Amino acid sequence: MSSRREFLKKTGLASSLAFMGFSAFSASPKKLSLTIKNSPVVISTWRFGMPANMVAMKVLYNDGRALDAVEQGVRVPEADPAVTSVGYGGLPDFSGRVTLDACIMDETGNCGSVAFLQNIKHPISVARKVMEDTEHVMLVGQGALQFAIGNGFKKDVLLTKGAEKAFLEHKNAIKKAKYDEIKRSQEEDHDTIGMLALDKNGNLSGACTTSGLAWKMHGRVGDSPIIGAGLFVDNEVGAATATGRGEAVIKTSGAFLVVELMRMGKSPQEACEIAVQRIIDKQADHKDFQVGFLALNKKGETGAFAIKKGFQFALHNGSENKLIDSEFKI
Ligand code: ASP
Repeated sequence: MSSRREFLKKTGLASSLAFMGFSAFSASPKKLSLTIKNSPVVISTWRFGMPANMVAMKVLYNDGRALDAVEQGVRVPEADPAVTSVGYGGLPDFSGRVTLDACIMDETGNCGSVAFLQNIKHPISVARKVMEDTEHVMLVGQGALQFAIGNGFKKDVLLTKGAEKAFLEHKNAIKKAKYDEIKRSQEEDHDTIGMLALDKNGNLSGACTTSGLAWKMHGRVGDSPIIGAGLFVDNEVGAATATGRGEAVIKTSGAFLVVELMRMGKSPQEACEIAVQRIIDKQADHKDFQVGFLALNKKGETGAFAIKKGFQFALHNGSENKLIDSEFKI
């Protein structure tokens, strides 16, 4: 080993540089030259995006694909019973059943999705299987469940004791409440994880997974498994994801809109702001719900914007992971 390399090894400089995205050292005896790869970026919705980002970033540090990073990342809240709006531990629908929606999209434009899926802890991995092993994009309900079981996924009970208790308490309240009150309480009982990642090769991918609105109608599907609504990735331009009231996001083709705005030259931040404004302009009841968008472009620049105060997102820029309060419109 050259003395320069030994010096770098001893000082830990080599591993620090690798951590920052500088990879191969040239063998040139005269001067130290570095191959600079892209610095990886991960952005995801809400506080539970923080531990999810850490897992995703580990994949990226190890030269992994953005696709693997987002899948591994969102599996963290999917498995966490304390997160009551994603996967295991999610609050149930009006009939007491936990039904899950998820989708994933890679740098080639391939995508897979599952909706109204029950009894499977990791819908994101089923969505990836749909993408990779079928000619289809979307499987729903019993068909999605059969596909999952046929591919080795284990059936689980997703309704935790805590979620069941909340449901029973709520059910009694619902009997007496008016529809408006139910809608208002739904606004407090949801939140999807949407995650976007840029890997060292400059490729983008995204994932989105949720148990949807609590106490929703049985059979209701939100924006989160809908490519173009809850998630969209175009590797030439950027990626976007959404959280909040799914119906409002579907009505605007939210994530697709954000990516198209970036294609037209808008920054990720501008694109998120224009998409939120579109919802405000077109949907008269926008004061009654929340929608938040996240965007990430090919350069690793990010954006976030929401209708109302309260939306938070987690951003890992390759050196630190931060929980940030999003800007908002009203
Ligand atoms: N967008 C999700 C849905 O409508 C919920 C959320 O993100 O809060 O199902």
